[in-house]
Amino acid sequence: MKKSMDTIVSLCKRRGFVFPSSEIYGGSNGFWDYGPLGAQLKRNVREAWWGDMVTNHNELGIPDGAVSTFQMVGVETSIIMHPQVWKASGHYDLFHDMMIDCRECQARFRSDHVATSQCPRKPSKAPGDHEACQLTEPREFNLMFKTIIGALSGEENAAFLRPETAQGMFVNFKNVVDSSRVKIPFGIAQVGKSFRNEITPRNFTFRSREFEQMEMEFFCHPDQSRQWYEYWRNRRFQWYIDLGITSDNLILRDHDADELSHYSVGTADVEYAFPFLPDGEYGELEGIAHRGDFDLRSHMEGKLVRQGDDLVVETDEHGQPRHRGSGKDLTYFDDQSRERFAPHVIEPAAGADRATLAFLCEAYHEDEQPDDKGNMQSRVLMRFHPRLAPVKVAVFPLIKKEGMPETAGRLYQDLKAAGIASVYDQQGAIGRRYRRQDEIGTPFCITIDGDTATDGTVTIRDRDSLEQQRIPLDSVVDNIHGRLRS
Ligand code: ATP
Repeated sequence: MKKSMDTIVSLCKRRGFVFPSSEIYGGSNGFWDYGPLGAQLKRNVREAWWGDMVTNHNELGIPDGAVSTFQMVGVETSIIMHPQVWKASGHYDLFHDMMIDCRECQARFRSDHVATSQCPRKPSKAPGDHEACQLTEPREFNLMFKTIIGALSGEENAAFLRPETAQGMFVNFKNVVDSSRVKIPFGIAQVGKSFRNEITPRNFTFRSREFEQMEMEFFCHPDQSRQWYEYWRNRRFQWYIDLGITSDNLILRDHDADELSHYSVGTADVEYAFPFLPDGEYGELEGIAHRGDFDLRSHMEGKLVRQGDDLVVETDEHGQPRHRGSGKDLTYFDDQSRERFAPHVIEPAAGADRATLAFLCEAYHEDEQPDDKGNMQSRVLMRFHPRLAPVKVAVFPLIKKEGMPETAGRLYQDLKAAGIASVYDQQGAIGRRYRRQDEIGTPFCITIDGDTATDGTVTIRDRDSLEQQRIPLDSVVDNIHGRLRS
């Protein structure tokens, strides 16, 4: 059965995953807020990525030895960068979508979202109504948000909110090499907000105007870049599968040769079958691109354009560089081979909000389970991977007497002290309490009952299998740590 996006969106609102931004003022199109559970879920997604890329990365051991070992470091760079960054990178001139306006209803659309010559918002009621003549010709619309630095307005003080985090890594390439003793090949990772003035934000958080990216620039020798591209392409696809996306819903789509920049040996997108898409269609979660030396060279020399098979600095009508680079030397000197070169870059660029949305959609399930009286009841459950689940453990006293709340309270405090996100709930029938946790994806529920006082054991219930086991009360923290690691 196909999942309903409306049901998922309403669960997100009801249980505090995602709210429309500024909702009490009617919302703000293209902006979203994460509620208590959503903030924790998204934080877990970011941490899973950062852990995989930086904290847990062990440069001493790439098991199959197919590629050499490598270092990974992180940075956090500013959202508003020097305006010249966007001129050299090409975003100032080229980061636009084509837009079309409807003269009749004033709606604005991305031209690639308009399939026919009619306004998509208002299909014709009668022949001749709202026809091609009502739509404007496609026009360029730059997606960067503009702002002003300092008290003086004027073009010379104009700046932009970054539309991607990647440029923060390129402009700091030399700083990182000089300060961190990294040697090529190595990667620089960053997680942070990006902003795009999308013409038609839509599909919940999928296309927002403010969103978060998880990007990594991997710098390597040009001769090895094809091999590294293959490595990252496969590794990034596997990351989503390891965190619970079933392979049926995920594809790794290689771009056709005519979609590639000429300096690139390959680009692949990780795509997910979001429920808001027609069957057989997928939406992009992440792009993995081989970028050659395009970015570092642009920041050295100025905005580059293609000329035949070469990249050359773009010039104006007077033969002067149209947008200068920094003029700084961003090449790399390999002290072993005594070779100087401009490194090639492999870029896995993921969206934290799109990944979070995919994990939410994937987790949503409905089934039927018997209630306390044995009657079948429908159940909604979010089958998050335990590492991503916003709450890991719920602790229940079976009844509110006989010392059970006190024992449960102490266990709850021990879990919190051990850094395990937990909740305590003593309200209502036990079955109802289980349902509440299923609906927010809590993988484990622990119940303190009459036997706990006599034999020192508690029940641990698994969200997905519904299996209940008795385990010693004093082993709960270790037991949960073990389950979260596996
Ligand atoms: P699209 O074609 O969907 O606009 P893109 O190819 O422009 O995406 P990239 O520039 O490659 O996207 O950005 C890398 C990642 O950042 C995307 O794979 C996506 O996960 C995320 N991303 C990009 N734009 C948005 C947006 N408007 N809202 C949410 N996430 C976004």
